[in-house]
Amino acid sequence: MRITVKAPAKINLSLDILAKREDGLHEISTVLQTVSLCDHVTVEEIPEQEIIIECSRENIPCGEGNLCHKAARAFFERFGISCGVRIIIDKKIPAAAGLAGGSADAAAALMALSMLCDRGNGAELSDIAASIGADVPFCLNGGTALAVGTGTRMRRLHPMPQCDVTIIKPPCDISTAEAYSLFDSESGKAVGKTFDMIMALHSSSVRGIASAAFNGFEQVIKHEDIGRAKDILLQNGALCAVMSGSGSSVFGIFGRKDQSIRAAEQAKNQGMEAFAVHPVDHGCTVTEQDF
Ligand code: ATP
Repeated sequence: MRITVKAPAKINLSLDILAKREDGLHEISTVLQTVSLCDHVTVEEIPEQEIIIECSRENIPCGEGNLCHKAARAFFERFGISCGVRIIIDKKIPAAAGLAGGSADAAAALMALSMLCDRGNGAELSDIAASIGADVPFCLNGGTALAVGTGTRMRRLHPMPQCDVTIIKPPCDISTAEAYSLFDSESGKAVGKTFDMIMALHSSSVRGIASAAFNGFEQVIKHEDIGRAKDILLQNGALCAVMSGSGSSVFGIFGRKDQSIRAAEQAKNQGMEAFAVHPVDHGCTVTEQDF
């Protein structure tokens, strides 16, 4: 049996960084949104009792370091199953980009394994997802959500209205750990307009969403590549240009599709990865099943 699941990337429409807790983790308040840029994760049963990972992109760990490997191990342990699987990742979401590519793949692997083994309801899968990473439960269901605490307490929000979004991944990579340590050394708190964002979503105002877009990491991450990507977005008519997650991707929200496409093309011409996308109201979805 073989199952393929589509795994959408996320952007952070807003991201406030709040107090640091005694255990070293930061409290955050963030509005998450899934978009049409996605990986495809295929899981198939194999006779060998192994978890084999294959990925279409270089520089992604294919052993135990891959989040799909962690997801499969956690799934099998939780249900006391021993089963061999090959997990094939067709990767389109840039890595270390603040787009939760790894988390989306892990969520997709869990969904496929649940169907393959006929185990795990929604609550059980969310529970396993949370043990892998803060973004993984969101990636399962997707849509528009507010996440607070360390990013694991979540509430669904009014869906983002249809609009055009361009995501640019500049050449520099920033790991989440690196971003937080920079934040700790230079800043205490970074609070934007999350309340305004929730209100703008509620009234389906694309302009309101663009003007409330905020990312607290921008206070400390000031790379010239990121500035260049933002300039491309704004020069092409973006209503905002904001970093996603801990970077280095930036996204722009557009009122016109042609402008969004032009911004993506210009960024590609300058050697950056870029995608003209739109918001989606779902997380992982099964696209193929072969019995
Ligand atoms: P987030 O926004 O959740 O912090 P991110 O988008 O910044 O995540 P990811 O794409 O999830 O970052 O990748 C972070 C690191 O995780 C990568 O550098 C890579 O080494 C590792 N990794 C493990 N599994 C995967 C995977 N399936 N896809 C991408 N990266 C993975």
